[in-house]
Amino acid sequence: MISKKDFQIGGFQKLTLLDYPGGKVSAMVFTIGCNMRCPFCHNYELVEDTDKIEELVDPEEVIDYLKKRKGVLDGLVITGGEPTLQRGLKGFIKEVKEETGLLVKLDSNGLNPSVLKELIDEKLVDYIAMDIKNDFENYGTITGIANISTERIKESIKILEEGKVEYEFRTTVIKDFHTLERLKNIVNFINKDSNYFLQQFIISDNVPNKELKYYTDEELINIGEELKIIHPNLKVRGIKSSND
Ligand code: SF4
Repeated sequence: MISKKDFQIGGFQKLTLLDYPGGKVSAMVFTIGCNMRCPFCHNYELVEDTDKIEELVDPEEVIDYLKKRKGVLDGLVITGGEPTLQRGLKGFIKEVKEETGLLVKLDSNGLNPSVLKELIDEKLVDYIAMDIKNDFENYGTITGIANISTERIKESIKILEEGKVEYEFRTTVIKDFHTLERLKNIVNFINKDSNYFLQQFIISDNVPNKELKYYTDEELINIGEELKIIHPNLKVRGIKSSND
């Protein structure tokens, strides 16, 4: 039994066809709390810790729902916030796997490499999507954490690149933070076989800094083409004419 305190769920989406690669039919949970403060965050209402535990979604109710949808759902996406901060993460996934057999995708900012490693080694996750927010020189500004440990980010990248689990890296591209040079630094760091996505930034009411600028779709596609020379395994995601 996983308690609301140990696995803090701020939101539960019963169906998504967009968030598990390959169009897998999935449900999605959003965990509370984050160790970054990105000014472009779409889930900023989730990043602060909460003391209103009673208002959270009960993980056992989520698992009950998933059990009833066996045969309909393919997977569960765990996003946040930053899910690796939840001390009940492993227990929750274990219970999901045992009770439902669903595929599990984890979204992470990569700041807790040891948690990623443990989940991978114990074969509890089937897919990990990790953000690479910027090149390492500029990680503090974009994450709102001046003294952020880029060593941990690098360690997470290396763990995923061992290839023990399916994974992708992704960068949400914002004009204020990302020059072509900085993006080149990212693709030069990651393994050439790694799936890497540039994601178009979409401003919304939830984003804390509404002054942020983004590249046009055309500009972003052109940036993607430049980067593909170095890293062919790159796709641009989130532009209007794309289904990625
Ligand atoms: S790491 Fe993700 S959840 Fe945390 S602040 Fe940044 S965008 Fe938001």
